[in-house]
Amino acid sequence: MESTRLSERLHEHLAAASTLPAEVQPAWLQGTLEVVGKFFYGFSVPSTWRLVDIQRFDQEKMLVCHWGSTSEQAACVACHTISHRRKKTSLVRRLQDLPASGLTLYHAVKANRYVYEHSECSIDTFTEQFAEIADPDDRLTQRLKDFIDQQGLDASANALARSPRPIGVRVSRETILRLIKARGAVAVQQNLARQDVRVLSVDDIHLRKGQPSTACSVFIDAETHRPLVMVQGATQVVAEKVMRQYPGVEMVSRDRGLAYFLALTGFVITSTNSRAIRYPTDQSQT
Ligand SMILES: [Zn+2]
Repeated sequence: MESTRLSERLHEHLAAASTLPAEVQPAWLQGTLEVVGKFFYGFSVPSTWRLVDIQRFDQEKMLVCHWGSTSEQAACVACHTISHRRKKTSLVRRLQDLPASGLTLYHAVKANRYVYEHSECSIDTFTEQFAEIADPDDRLTQRLKDFIDQQGLDASANALARSPRPIGVRVSRETILRLIKARGAVAVQQNLARQDVRVLSVDDIHLRKGQPSTACSVFIDAETHRPLVMVQGATQVVAEKVMRQYPGVEMVSRDRGLAYFLALTGFVITSTNSRAIRYPTDQSQT
């Protein structure tokens, strides 16, 4: 892969146009690169990072920012104890960030390694993490993941895997799905076992029209109209399992599914009740 380095460009420029004595040129070069790094990323990478070089791959439409870390301490990933004992070795971590000028952007940072002498922890050496911008050992920055998430909510993962390319985001369909599912799981976790759901509305839908094998049950907080959870299957067992998560439910509004009718024994059946709050039936599924 052919690339151009910012340091080489600056070096050429110095050689051709500068009257700076040769012995101070390396320091000037390093200082200039640090200024460039601070200028562009002062607010968005850890303050301990110093830009060492930027490499541009024209064919691949890719930028790699090379950083050094000047950290003097780091917290252990396992026990969060701070260590000040830096090892001589480092480990290059590569993080994809939001694209710059339509080019895919990677940060390659030499992460320092730290060692413990007296610790209860089973780990005795570890690589510093950059919690400000990324999850432990992740290869995507938090803000890139937020961006993907946001896009993923508006488009299908298939469309998304194709569409961010022009602006420089390079992630597979699988990565997008994994991210969205992970966030979704957190939302489901929060929606499950809620004490404040009083009126539950359930409906069964087929994800593919007319295919009972794709049946799903949708549970909605009928008072707030907030979807709570959608689970695979529309059987009594499924319904019972989910309903057990909502101990505060006083009333259930159901749709036509017989399974639910059976599962609702013990709940107030409200389909004939004028107080029933029915979730509007999707016209597309019959
Ligand atoms: Zn530890």
